[in-house]
Amino acid sequence: MSKSLQAIRGMNDILPEQTPLWRYFENTVARLLDNYGYKQIRMPIVEFTELFKRSIGEVTDIVEKEMYTFEDRNGDSLTLRPEGTAACVRAVLEHGLTGAGQPQKLWYIGPMFRHERPQKGRYRQFHQIGLEVFNIDGPDIDAELIVLTWRLWGLLGIRDAVKLELNSLGTSESRGRYKVALVEYLSAHLDKLDEDSQRRLKTNPLRVLDTKNADTQAVLVNAPKMADYLDDESRAHFEGLKARLDAAGIPFVINTKLVRGLDYYSKTVFEWVTDKLGAQGTVCAGGRYDGLVEQMGGKPTTGVGFAMGIERLILLLETLEQVPEEISRQVDVYLCAFGEAAELAALALSEKVRDQLPNLRLQVNAGAGSFKSQFKKADKSGALYALILGDDELAQQVIGFKPLRGQGEQQNIAFDALAAHLATCVVQG
Ligand code: ATP
Ligand code: MG
Repeated sequence: MSKSLQAIRGMNDILPEQTPLWRYFENTVARLLDNYGYKQIRMPIVEFTELFKRSIGEVTDIVEKEMYTFEDRNGDSLTLRPEGTAACVRAVLEHGLTGAGQPQKLWYIGPMFRHERPQKGRYRQFHQIGLEVFNIDGPDIDAELIVLTWRLWGLLGIRDAVKLELNSLGTSESRGRYKVALVEYLSAHLDKLDEDSQRRLKTNPLRVLDTKNADTQAVLVNAPKMADYLDDESRAHFEGLKARLDAAGIPFVINTKLVRGLDYYSKTVFEWVTDKLGAQGTVCAGGRYDGLVEQMGGKPTTGVGFAMGIERLILLLETLEQVPEEISRQVDVYLCAFGEAAELAALALSEKVRDQLPNLRLQVNAGAGSFKSQFKKADKSGALYALILGDDELAQQVIGFKPLRGQGEQQNIAFDALAAHLATCVVQG
């Protein structure tokens, strides 16, 4: 195939054999979020570039080097969204959803775009499910976000493989004081820092904390600790969160180096990480961003949220072999019909059955074919039962009912009794 007809590197097709797992995952999350009282919001995939620059921050990896930015035909600079929070805040402000201090518990799902080096668990188009909560400022809601993800890991069967890391970044004032101390300390050891960290020291010094460079890590051992600079309010908030996680029985570790890549966080930050996926181990990450809404032109409005990477969680389900067997079977019953008269009768009959059993997954053979070929298709479809309609059956107004997975004998069922019979043998979702 010529190169121009290939998908863009790092942007993947999700093929039919994979979609059942995606839908199982998405449905599980959606049901859980419904149950916790979160409402879905859907934002556009493209926004003005300015939105991301203002919210995410100019000196972040995303804005510096990962955005897909282009000029529209009328000269506007647009960007494919690299994350969901900015657009969600924009939408909330534009539609006055948080006016008068009204709380909102929102979630979204969809593709995000970042120009990164593609590798396992890291793509240029990837998918997130994100939650954002506005105007609830206590640690109770931070705890709820974590509790519900913990429940999700339980539903998915991956609890043992993920670990919660927590930190508090304090308010922007206490973080500002800490930044000064950190810069002072690191400047005194400038020659021992890697090149990236030297640059970050000037642009975004907290990012030095999550360096992967061993020499810089050695310098950081004696660096000032963020915890020592926390203001009382942030400290109390953090204690409140930890007490709630203890009460819910959720294990966590404090990681004082956890700073997150985006500028807008304050107080709580957290990540769920796994050691089962190699370097791309963070499956869900988030935190509190109390200053963001105001920074984007709204009234002071507290916020807290997270996003999980769907590809990484799907990889984890596959790695841990936590893919429920039943999700790959998409057909309950496969109807084979032989000859035009039988095909016509089959169509009428199958539509009548669908009227009575709206959730039945009934596949009617298309494209005719011999007994052997239709039967092969029935078997390959994964159906539990085949229905067989030829001239003989038609004459008697019955249809052959044949279990395909060794559950009993073949028998003839009267047309009128078919729906009732299927209702007794197929569990309908
Ligand atoms: P990382 O440190 O891995 O680059 P990040 O801090 O940039 O992650 P966030 O912006 O917090 O990631 O996004 C939340 C989640 O989305 C991540 O924890 C991860 O699961 C997922 N994610 C982020 N970038 C990618 C990507 N390029 N490909 C696949 N999943 C991603
Ligand atoms: Mg990143």
